[in-house]
Amino acid sequence: MSYRVDFTLKHDLKKFGIHDWNECFHCGNCTAICPMTKTGSLFPRKDIRLLQMGLKDKLATNLDPWLCYYCGECTETCPRDANPGELMMSLRRYLTSVYDWTGLSKKFYTSHFWEFGFIFFFFCAVIASFLIWLPLSGNTAELINDQGGVMINNLVAGISGASFVNIIEIGDWTMAILVAGLLISNILHMFYRVVIRDKEVKVPVYAYITEFWSLIWQFMTQSKFSKCEGKTYWVGHLLLMTGYSIMFAVIVVLLPEFQIEEVRPWYNWQRLMGYYATFGILFFLVYVTISRIRKSDWKSKFSHPTDWLFIVMLGLTTITGILVHIFRIGGMVSATYYMYVIHLAVLVPMILVEVPFSKWSHLAYRPFAIYFDRLKEYSRKSQNENKLVRAA
Ligand code: SF4
Ligand code: SF4
Repeated sequence: MSYRVDFTLKHDLKKFGIHDWNECFHCGNCTAICPMTKTGSLFPRKDIRLLQMGLKDKLATNLDPWLCYYCGECTETCPRDANPGELMMSLRRYLTSVYDWTGLSKKFYTSHFWEFGFIFFFFCAVIASFLIWLPLSGNTAELINDQGGVMINNLVAGISGASFVNIIEIGDWTMAILVAGLLISNILHMFYRVVIRDKEVKVPVYAYITEFWSLIWQFMTQSKFSKCEGKTYWVGHLLLMTGYSIMFAVIVVLLPEFQIEEVRPWYNWQRLMGYYATFGILFFLVYVTISRIRKSDWKSKFSHPTDWLFIVMLGLTTITGILVHIFRIGGMVSATYYMYVIHLAVLVPMILVEVPFSKWSHLAYRPFAIYFDRLKEYSRKSQNENKLVRAA
């Protein structure tokens, strides 16, 4: 099999945050210390080699970067300061742009103009939509319920009889279907590149079913993360992930159950779920923000602009969501309305830009990469067994 050498690869990958990698002299320390490296797998050294040789096609079909959990043990032991952990992170950004058929991911990772431009556009579109089509209801005194809280679904005069919660629900489902469609199509593209197009891989149909549990298990538990030496990052990540999942259930699937006129007592299970999700997200945000400001460990020493954008947008969404809740139970009608609008103006671009095209997409790509890797491993093993049987 022949591979084309691409001399522009190193230059192109710099835009995704790769630096220092060329210091590597292939001692192999990083591979030896990495808790994720399996027998027969040589990452992250192999990936540095592919980059140094300009083997773009091989790099683009490689799953190793998704099997790395950024624990940094490789970087800490590298005698040449080649920063292999950061290289794997940068390769994940690059691969996200490879899978994305729209080309937007590449533009967002490599151009501030495109990423900030799209975010600003969606921000303004949400603000304008509310102020023009869904302004605050005229008589604010009638919007206070018996418990002194704001009757949130009467905040705006609905269009064609639809209440506020119906309008938000339609918007939520539209975004969810759009984002899911983009992610699924990109995952199919990834599958085509790494499994179907690889002529050496022959996966029996039943293996797709028997190995599927790995996808669900890794998505739910992120258990591979626990192999890293420090456990705080894993716990924080798990809190964040469960927080996201609960928030998704609350704001998309169960919105009519949650966004009701009555203010429930604080110990109601729905409010407690919301508090858990908020705590999980805030815990992770505070932890990574302090680490990145202090640059207290190797992970925090280098930040790509998209790392900060992710923190800022998620932080603003969380804080504005908390303020909506406080203003609402405090009976502040105008403050609730305007804060709700600002909350959506930050949330919508975060969902439409960050989830399918940027940092958040790894939530989908990583479990599928682990699944595809297991399929490839299954294929290797069954082919070796067949060879042994034939030889016998
Ligand atoms: S430890 Fe450093 S120098 Fe050694 S192979 Fe890994 S990246 Fe290269
Ligand atoms: S950052 Fe951790 S998981 Fe990733 S390659 Fe280095 S040692 Fe392995």
